[in-house]
This record gives sequence, structure tokens and C-alpha cells, in this order.
Amino acid sequence: MNITEIRVKLIDDQRDKLRGFASLTVDRCLVIRDLKVIDGAKGLFVAMPSRKLHDRCPGCAGKNHIRARFCNDCGLRLREGRGDMDERGRVRLYADIAHPIHQEGRDEVQARVVAAYRHELECSKQDGYVPVRFDDLDYHEFAQDARETG
Ligand SMILES: [Zn+2]
Repeated sequence: MNITEIRVKLIDDQRDKLRGFASLTVDRCLVIRDLKVIDGAKGLFVAMPSRKLHDRCPGCAGKNHIRARFCNDCGLRLREGRGDMDERGRVRLYADIAHPIHQEGRDEVQARVVAAYRHELECSKQDGYVPVRFDDLDYHEFAQDARETG
């Protein structure tokens, strides 16, 4: 895998578990955005971009987050524990949008993104630091989601 560019956007509050967002470019050709750098129990790790899983209300077919207790559209009480289980027996709330297909690829992405994050963090301590521009995303909302799900 030829990663040709990594951009990191730091989260202002570095006490947060979510430390930054990253985008990476593969072979000057394909950009993958919304990787997250997270400070976990075992140190920094990288979460691949993911989307929230939804299902349909049995009453009105409205779309609800998998953990919603009541339908957003008709107010029907929804069965708890819906959705698929992960390997640890917990309900899967997110699905990866893009991810490496083997451990070697995962390790490389992780190492490169964490290194880029550390570099950006060092740069941010210099006078006149200008954060990398990420065009159009609402990162406030992403940060909020990350806090909700821990
Ligand atoms: Zn409904």
C-alpha cells in the first residue's frame, strides 16, 4: 500500500479521548477521510471511518438509530437489543465505510496515522502554526458522536 499523504486535524481539547481526525491518500489517487485518532486504554489507536447503523420501525418503516428506544417518526416503543452482535456479544452500532482487509494493512495505517498525528501535535506547539484545512465537514458533530459512544 502506497500512502502518499496524510493530513491530521487536531481536536482543540486534548483532554478528550478523541484526539484528531485524519485523511489519507493512497497512491496519489484515492482519499479516505474521517479516520479518527483516539486515546484509548492501551494508547493511541486509529479508528477507520464508519457510519451509524439504522433499522426500520416495524410500525411505520421509519428509519431509527439501532439504539433508539422509540421510533422518531411514530413514537412506537422499539424492541431493545436489536441489530447484529459483534464478536464480543455487544450490539454493533457502527459499520466501517473503508478499512484495511488484513492485519498488515491495519498496522501500517495505524503506525503512519499515529506518526502524522504526533508530528502535527509537535508542529502545533510552534509559533505561527496554521492548522491543516479540511474543506467542508462538520467536525463538531463528529466529536459529539465520538463522545456519546465512548
Ligand atoms: Zn415508527
